[in-house]
Amino acid sequence: MNEKVGQVTRRNAVAWLLRAGAGAGVAAFAALAARRPAGDRMVWQLDPRKCIQCGRCETACVLQPSAVKCVHGYVMCGYCKLCFGYFKPDAARLDEAAENQTCPTGAIRRQFVEDPYFEYHIDEPLCTACGLCVKGCTNFGNGSLYLQVRHDRCVNCNTCRIAETCPSQAFTRVPASQPYLLKEKLV
Ligand code: SF4
Ligand code: SF4
Ligand code: SF4
Repeated sequence: MNEKVGQVTRRNAVAWLLRAGAGAGVAAFAALAARRPAGDRMVWQLDPRKCIQCGRCETACVLQPSAVKCVHGYVMCGYCKLCFGYFKPDAARLDEAAENQTCPTGAIRRQFVEDPYFEYHIDEPLCTACGLCVKGCTNFGNGSLYLQVRHDRCVNCNTCRIAETCPSQAFTRVPASQPYLLKEKLV
């Protein structure tokens, strides 16, 4: 086995183990929602493929902090040491100092896995849905950080205030039985 294949195989194994643990959050949430009897009820969700990270998800929601949160598609993540969602483009050093981090609230936790891999976890209560990390990961990384309406917070307004102002028409109604548009399942 050449070195590159060996690295990829080990990386896949690490990714699988992490998905079984940390990545279970979104999947478990979606599975729980799928088991809920929902009838014909529809709920709001945003399509991460249309989102341009304009920042309105942070400010337009009737709830403060917003019902929208950053989620992490662990299946897509490269567990990069240099994460374009975590580090500011002009970070002086690649360490955990607040001045080097993109997230203004420190909502992204970084944990060493094995050289050169790091796991990134969103501390949801701290996330304001500003989209800065999503923009960095989308523009320069693999797009595994993205925004979703969290249905444990959203009050399902008849007319979603964010949908009214979203410049890319990313908001749509989806069945309450399948309330998430998980990017890793859409691409
Ligand atoms: S308002 Fe629309 S484009 Fe702006 S961050 Fe939210 S989903 Fe993305
Ligand atoms: S940078 Fe913004 S969207 Fe990303 S985790 Fe922090 S508060 Fe949430
Ligand atoms: S439906 Fe209401 S609570 Fe839910 S994301 Fe839209 S504005 Fe926020």
